[in-house]
Amino acid sequence: MNWISNYVRPKINSLFSKHDTPDNLWTKCPECNTMLFHRELADNLNVCTNCDHHMHITPRARFSALFDGGVFSEIKVPEPIEDPLKFRDQKRYPERMKAAQRSTGEKEAMLVAEGEMGRTPIVAAAQDFSFMAGSMGMYVGNAFIAGVERAIALKRPFVMFSAAGGARMQEGILSLMQMPRTTVAVEMLKEAGLPYIVVLTHPTTGGVTASYAMLGDVQIAEPNALICFAGPRVIEQTIREKLPEGFQRAEYLLDHGMLDRVTHRSQMKSELVTILRMLGQMTPAVAGDLPAPTPEVKPLEAAKAPEGAKPKTTPAKDAQK
Ligand SMILES: [Zn+2]
Repeated sequence: MNWISNYVRPKINSLFSKHDTPDNLWTKCPECNTMLFHRELADNLNVCTNCDHHMHITPRARFSALFDGGVFSEIKVPEPIEDPLKFRDQKRYPERMKAAQRSTGEKEAMLVAEGEMGRTPIVAAAQDFSFMAGSMGMYVGNAFIAGVERAIALKRPFVMFSAAGGARMQEGILSLMQMPRTTVAVEMLKEAGLPYIVVLTHPTTGGVTASYAMLGDVQIAEPNALICFAGPRVIEQTIREKLPEGFQRAEYLLDHGMLDRVTHRSQMKSELVTILRMLGQMTPAVAGDLPAPTPEVKPLEAAKAPEGAKPKTTPAKDAQK
């Protein structure tokens, strides 16, 4: 009997059991309904290879593509009070949080990091639309401010990638208070003379649009991103009128003077580098891929480094004079 239970049964079970294939190998493009293979999609930075639709990208994936060699260090965010209103709809707020943490593998809806982008030191923050629609609560406010304070301490520009359904209703007035808090933080950057660049991604709406996402020195958006305070459906129902084609989309807003640029995700890094180096009066960026910055320089290399670095830095000093 032993061989039956030890050998035959597992064999039969393995034949009939479901194979361990992840069910998320394919993603359907919400715009053109094309089935896209996950690896191909990830290589294309979550932009549809068929219709060029810019899908959500997690902050982690974005930072990996943005920072040189995918190297960045996260900035610690002060913890806010948990569930201050003891909010409950169909589910309790802490349960919703736990579900979002499990599905995304992230702690909250914003990631803040520092690193180099095209050898340009920056501090960046990105909102995670897959985490409770990237909604702005106390943590997001704290994260934004932690990023700004770090940027000021390091004298670096601050780049914000926004994506949000608005304020987090489970935190009520406390989430709305993040609007003035973040606005004051943007003012702190201005006082320190540091550039604040906003990259608006699909969709950026509600209280986020009404605060830090619209206060950038340069406002860039990804193609066809919905950027609004109240959505087109709400407006249509209120004014009972048909809205023009492409209303509240990035290209429409660019035409009407609300944005400075609409940039494809694949071009975003080089464009940001160009803008930031111009604003920071640095030499133009080196074209092509750069190796990851080395965290520790060995004594031998350190001795060699100034020689190699000299020809690059001297023209900059001359140019500034
Ligand atoms: Zn598509």
